[in-house]
Amino acid sequence: MSLRIDKMLANMGYGTRKEVKKLLKSGVVKMDGVIVKDPKTQVNPETQIVTVWGGKVEYKEFVYLMMNKPPGVISATEDDMEETVVDLLEEEDQIFAPFPVGRLDKDTEGLLLLTNDGQLAHQLLSPKKHVPKTYFAVIDGEVNEEDIAAFRRGVILDDGYETKPAELIILKPGTRSDVEVTITEGKFHQVKRMFQAVGKRVVYLKRIQMGPLALDPSLALGEYRELTEEEIEMLK
Ligand code: URA
Repeated sequence: MSLRIDKMLANMGYGTRKEVKKLLKSGVVKMDGVIVKDPKTQVNPETQIVTVWGGKVEYKEFVYLMMNKPPGVISATEDDMEETVVDLLEEEDQIFAPFPVGRLDKDTEGLLLLTNDGQLAHQLLSPKKHVPKTYFAVIDGEVNEEDIAAFRRGVILDDGYETKPAELIILKPGTRSDVEVTITEGKFHQVKRMFQAVGKRVVYLKRIQMGPLALDPSLALGEYRELTEEEIEMLK
């Protein structure tokens, strides 16, 4: 695999193609120890060593991050008013320009994937793929067998939309019930609106699984890590 050195450096956050061209012209970029100035130079990042100001450029095209989203931040890349999940990333991860794959509400916690791999994001979000998403929720109200049956059939949301079958499991019954719910769609506020449709209210919501990817329990709120090779393969 080889690509133009200006593209490689631009992908790695060394500036726009124009800025990278200037950088190359200034003679601070070396390929296998030899100064390169021509932006069209082909480089194989797997076999050749590129340095800028003497520092090695660790090239990778895509980044895949699993975050345990904390409440109070929004699932966006940037916002004038609110803190975003991308603001929580280290600068060295931000240079890959990752974006959140889908949205969790501001008050929802849990599994959020961030990547710059548009194709994978599209696959995971495509309504045609029906990727299951599982949430742990605390419900104000007594969740019962009728609710399980209603979720299985599909419930009518406040805008008239009928949801696809969803699986509801009661973990801890009571007037405040702990449940697990798996949906295969991603309508706005879907889980909250599904419970609203059966006269109950979600008071806590955390995503714990998306497709084959489970939230790493060792991640504290706001923490994130790169996906392992196996996890990336599972998602593809
Ligand atoms: N359903 C919701 O209501 N909120 C979320 O954040 C995710 C699913």
